[in-house]
Amino acid sequence: MNQTFKLLSRRFLAAFSVIFREAARQADHAVLSRHIVALNKKTSSTDIINELSVCLKNTLNYRLFAFVVKKEAGVDVWLDPGMYKQSLEHIILEDFNVEHPADLTYLNHDFHPDDNRENKNQHIDNLDHLIFYEITETNCYARLYMLPRKPVYAFHDEVVQLILQGCATALSRQLKIESLKNAAAIDPLTGCYNRRELETQLCRHMSSATRYKNNLSLFMFDLDHFKEINDTHGHQAGDLILKEIAFLVKDNMRQGDILARYGGEEFIAILPETGKHKAMELADRLRTKIAALKIPYNGATLQVTASFGVSQLTSGMDMRRLIEDADTMLYRAKRNGRNTVMPGLMKVCPSLAATI
Ligand code: GH3
Ligand code: MG
Ligand code: MG
Repeated sequence: MNQTFKLLSRRFLAAFSVIFREAARQADHAVLSRHIVALNKKTSSTDIINELSVCLKNTLNYRLFAFVVKKEAGVDVWLDPGMYKQSLEHIILEDFNVEHPADLTYLNHDFHPDDNRENKNQHIDNLDHLIFYEITETNCYARLYMLPRKPVYAFHDEVVQLILQGCATALSRQLKIESLKNAAAIDPLTGCYNRRELETQLCRHMSSATRYKNNLSLFMFDLDHFKEINDTHGHQAGDLILKEIAFLVKDNMRQGDILARYGGEEFIAILPETGKHKAMELADRLRTKIAALKIPYNGATLQVTASFGVSQLTSGMDMRRLIEDADTMLYRAKRNGRNTVMPGLMKVCPSLAATI
């Protein structure tokens, strides 16, 4: 009798478990359909990945989610929560064959604002249950890493595969659009924004600075005696200098600053939330770094200097005037002997400083 009861209860539990899983499966499929529909309405990579993460949070309640996309230059990472960055970074570097963590761009989003998480780094000791999936579309290679909290049944795997298929289609379409937009906005030699994009971005930043009463400065710089470099070392040497200077300047600006190639050897930087004095300080720091840069080329060492003109947005100014002001200052810097910033930083002599 006891034996029969055990057998029955085991059968009952097995049946119950099947019913329970089937109910869970149906519930997950319902959630899944909603998210797949939503995915197709998204108009940015971040929004697509955000939708994917919400779907997986709802179905698997993951502890850690990372979505990593290989781009033409570098690798983009969406990580949730951001505090586990260090736990996963070495795995991403290895899987994507990336040498320096600086080549990973973290595009973290506050995916789930209700979660009680802090920004500081934390470590997950055990990544044994980390699962990953790959997306290989023609223009997109990506990996999803996930550490689920719930036990993963076969139908969960089915859910992940289905949502990933939806995500791959949406993402591939979006990346094509983004790369076309980039091609229209980026200068192919230096990777900086082109003049057209500069004007679009400047217009946006000027409206925002005016609306929120924030500072906005701009500097324009032009390489000195650049024609001589081309004449002496050839056009390719000139091209190399343009690339190296663009890299150096971008590397020394804040993330929100914008650098554009305005013409041949002339660049403009937009500095949001920056007053003229700070802009002049930055321009002078960059001027010094440019002058100190030594670029090896065909057994020779190339060196160049640059002249800078700085302007600041004041009330009633339009875009043309803001650029013209910087251009006028740049012209003065050239007349002042080049390798200089105009207007120059006010120098306070030590005896005067003591009395202030
Ligand atoms: P200044 O100090 O007065 O600015 O003198 P400069 O020689 O730099 O100015 P100029 O306007 O006389 O010459 C600019 C040179 O920049 C001439 C042009 O060949 C070169 N240049 C413009 N665009 C490119 C480019 O994409 N690649 C290369 N290699 N050179 C370029
Ligand atoms: Mg020049
Ligand atoms: Mg010029």
